[in-house]
Amino acid sequence: MRLEPVIGLEIHAQLKTHTKMFCACPNRGELDPPNTNICPTCVGHPGTLPNINRSAVMNGLKIAKALGSQLATRSKFDRKNYFYPDLPKGYQISQFDLPIAERGELILRINESQDDEREFRVGITRVHLEEDAAKLQHSGTGDGKVSLVDYNRGGTPLVEIVTEPDLRSPAEAKAFLQELRLMLRYLNVSDADMEKGNMRCDANISLREVPDNPLNEDWVKQFSPKTELKNLNSFRAVERALEYEIKRQTKLWLDGKPPAIQSTRGWDDARGVTIEQRTKEGSSDYRYFPEPDLPPMDLTEIREQISISELPEARRLRFMEQYNLSRAEAKTMCEQKELADFAERVFSELDEWTSSVASADPNIEPLTPERRAKLVSGWLLTKLVGVMTEHKLDIRTVKITPENFAELLTMVQTNKVTGPNALIILNEMTQAGADPSIIMEEKNLGQMNDLSKLDKIVKQVLTDNPPAVEDWRKGKTTAVQFLVGQVMKVSRGKAPPEEARRLLEEELGKM
Ligand SMILES: [Zn+2]
Repeated sequence: MRLEPVIGLEIHAQLKTHTKMFCACPNRGELDPPNTNICPTCVGHPGTLPNINRSAVMNGLKIAKALGSQLATRSKFDRKNYFYPDLPKGYQISQFDLPIAERGELILRINESQDDEREFRVGITRVHLEEDAAKLQHSGTGDGKVSLVDYNRGGTPLVEIVTEPDLRSPAEAKAFLQELRLMLRYLNVSDADMEKGNMRCDANISLREVPDNPLNEDWVKQFSPKTELKNLNSFRAVERALEYEIKRQTKLWLDGKPPAIQSTRGWDDARGVTIEQRTKEGSSDYRYFPEPDLPPMDLTEIREQISISELPEARRLRFMEQYNLSRAEAKTMCEQKELADFAERVFSELDEWTSSVASADPNIEPLTPERRAKLVSGWLLTKLVGVMTEHKLDIRTVKITPENFAELLTMVQTNKVTGPNALIILNEMTQAGADPSIIMEEKNLGQMNDLSKLDKIVKQVLTDNPPAVEDWRKGKTTAVQFLVGQVMKVSRGKAPPEEARRLLEEELGKM
């Protein structure tokens, strides 16, 4: 029996707005002392009236547009009734039959192996708005005796994105969530941090049998009762929980007892298992009805005003095209919007630096697009990222401007400084934010371009290292690498390594 996983996701993301969804409380007081970021509306006092937050609606529509969804002209809020202490009103204001958007899609790429990419499509069922619930804190000792409730989070604007059951593996689910997170960050509508709880995900999964010789395609329209997985607090948790559930359900199928009803299971990250919580209530259990305190929204005008910035995939493709980068390089650069912005400014500053250097000295070789791509990706993605990691910095906190970074690359490119010394300068720059040419002067790190000086050092190194010379004579070509290292050491990193190697080989050839 061949079984195929059928997976759909429901994602909640907190929207970055100034105020909560239906009241004027600040939308950043989640971590304030408990129950201080509240007002009569968000704690559901009788007689209070909700007000729709326009920027939450705009943000929701931006997300929907980015997901290629059809934005509604008419939308309304509904009451979703259920009783739980995190919901002071006894209902949540959500959207039922007229969400802000429906029917979209996201096309993604997934790495099958190192250099084999595959495209897949995930349909978007709907995008709707709602309010977040309060946070419960259960007694730390686990005795189940005390539960506290903090209403600070209650009323935070949430967008819910529901996908079609189009995902076929845990890896696809993870790839979808990662791309969605990046999109939300590019749109600047949510921090979308799963670990901090401002992006949350439930996953629905069932299996179905793939016929050996399908006579027609009808089987793909068949779905078994799904299991909803809750409490997935990281990408890793989503992947692991789905993997676990595939194994668990496969066993049930093989035993001839596939799940017969919908159920909800919670993921226990520490134990690595899912635990049955309840069999699922249908939407009728929530007794949805239109929110009588809010008028339906006419979105005809507002949806025309929605414009979205360049999305991650478009930016990757543009980077490949415009800057001659490989897909892997473009992908890494675009993984963080701030890093991509930085890279983009480095490219443009670098063009200015190199053209000004070239106009001053006609002997300078022009920077080809290939060389430019290599220079920026090597120094940005490997060296700068490495230095930042070492000093626990990131592109937002590092004291280095794209202009100074581009100047450093120009210095490398025009042989003003060697690679090893440029790395020392880069280290200084991230700490002090200073100009690279000033650091180079102050620390005397400029490249040695005086060939007679270099020639002297080369001869000295050969005299001082007879064993290495002997090795070279015996045919051990790696001995040259050692000698280049010695030249670099004696010259305090200032000798151009390629030139040093050439001179060493020339001298050795004479011996
Ligand atoms: Zn409030």
